[in-house]
Amino acid sequence: MKLIFLGPPGAGKGTLAGLVSKELAIPQISTGDIFRDAIKRETELGKKVKEIVGRGDLVPDDLTVSLVRERLARPDAKKGYILDGFPRTIPQAEALEQFQTLDAVVNFTISDSLVVERLSGREICKSCGAIYHVKNMPSKVKGVCDACGGPVYTRPDDSLESITNRLLVYRKQTEPLIAFYRSKKLLRDIDSSKSPEDTHAQIGKALGLRK
Ligand code: ADP
Repeated sequence: MKLIFLGPPGAGKGTLAGLVSKELAIPQISTGDIFRDAIKRETELGKKVKEIVGRGDLVPDDLTVSLVRERLARPDAKKGYILDGFPRTIPQAEALEQFQTLDAVVNFTISDSLVVERLSGREICKSCGAIYHVKNMPSKVKGVCDACGGPVYTRPDDSLESITNRLLVYRKQTEPLIAFYRSKKLLRDIDSSKSPEDTHAQIGKALGLRK
C-alpha cells in the first residue's frame, strides 16, 4: 500500500505511521526524521536546513521533493510505504503525482489546543525516533528509550514559539491538501484526539485492514 499520513504537527502521524508500517511491513518515510538526522550528522543537507527546521518553517519544495524521489526509488519502497510529513504543500503533492500512484491519504484531525498540549510535552529518541510524552506516554526510565536504550530528548522545534509557527504554516500551506486529495477520492478522515490504540483501530477500518 502506498499511503500518505496528513495532518497538523502533533496529530500523531509519526506514532501511528510507526505502528502501521510494522503491521503492513512497509517503510515509514518521515521527511522530518530525514532532516533531523542530517542536522544531527552535520551533513551538507543538515547545514542547509537547520535554521529553517528550528523555526518551524518549511524546507524549500525542490530540495524536499528530490530527497523523497530518491528515497522512493530505493528497493524497500517498491511495494509500498507510508509518507509521514510529505507532501506538505500543493507543489509537493503535484510533483509526487508525476512519479507515484497512491492508494489512500489518511487525514488526521485534532484541535489546536490539543496540538499544543501534546507537542509541549513531547520527547523523542535521538537514536531511533520513538516518540514519548512526559505525561501521557512517558518512557519507562526517564531520558532512556524503551525501544533501543538511546537518549530521549525534547526537539528544539517543540518550543512554544516554533509550535505556534508550525500550526500557522500548516493552516496556510498544508491544509489545502485536504481538498486536493478529497477531490481525488483518496482522503480518509481520522479523529486523532483519542489514544494511539483508538486511532490505530480507526485507520485499520478506514483502510479495510480489519472490520
Ligand atoms: P511535525 O509534524 O511535528 O511538525 P516533522 O517531523 O514532520 O514535524 O517535521 C519537522 C520539520 O521538518 C518541519 O517543521 C519542517 O521544517 C521540516 N519538514 C518536514 N517535512 C517537510 C516537507 N514535506 N516540506 C518542507 N519541510 C518539511
